[in-house]
Amino acid sequence: MTGDRAREVLAVRFGDRVTTRAESFLNYHLYGEPDAEIGIDYYFWVIRDADGTVTMVDTGFAPAAGDRRRRNWHTTPADALPKLGIDPGAVKTVVVTHAHWDHIGNLHQFPQAQIVISRAEYDFWTGPIARRAQFAAHAEPGELALLETLHRAGRLILITDQHTVAPGVELVEVGGHTPGELIVTVAIPAGTVVLASDALHFYEEVERDRPFAILADLPGMYQAYDLLAALAAEPDTWLVAGHDPAVRDRFAPHPADPAVTDLTRPTG
Ligand SMILES: [Zn+2]
Repeated sequence: MTGDRAREVLAVRFGDRVTTRAESFLNYHLYGEPDAEIGIDYYFWVIRDADGTVTMVDTGFAPAAGDRRRRNWHTTPADALPKLGIDPGAVKTVVVTHAHWDHIGNLHQFPQAQIVISRAEYDFWTGPIARRAQFAAHAEPGELALLETLHRAGRLILITDQHTVAPGVELVEVGGHTPGELIVTVAIPAGTVVLASDALHFYEEVERDRPFAILADLPGMYQAYDLLAALAAEPDTWLVAGHDPAVRDRFAPHPADPAVTDLTRPTG
């Protein structure tokens, strides 16, 4: 992978919530530990290259959906990006790691973008099983319908296995959490950051081998953890968990905004 001296990789924390360990880890009783509260953050991610090209990775949740589901929210891309000097209307590429409601809200804020999503993810969420309660709980029907509209308009790029979005920005389909969950590896001057999105909500999933509670395929989820662990063992490679407040300890804050984490500056 090629490094780019000026590439920025940012995590924008747009929401948060307090939940419990028993709600977060699959069959938590297996571990014989007392339940406890655990903080969960909500992020979207921004890759900005030296030439100004911006690749969005997910778009957060829509405010109305967040309110209905009782999540705290602070911003949306349309408000957050201009503060970073980015015009959402000019963004050409949005990667959708998976179609859960907290990752594909606000897609309409990117009217010029091609949307990159795995074919497995698109096929699943536009198919009949996605309407069953255990899956439907994690999606917004209007947002899934928008994916179909975008597909008809020729604005979806449906990928399988691997895809290069930009030099040094690679998508890898891992499944597990959802049928076509993607991770994103991003070359930075110091090495590689891995935007795991919800292949890894909390670092503990990989570091203590504890699957997250919401999933499509448990063997697939374990295999995704194995891949992430192998990546993390490579030199100068850092995992960015999708919902872990520890991201803000493992990477430096952006000097201009404490809600933004600079993923090109790992702290350890
Ligand atoms: Zn999520």
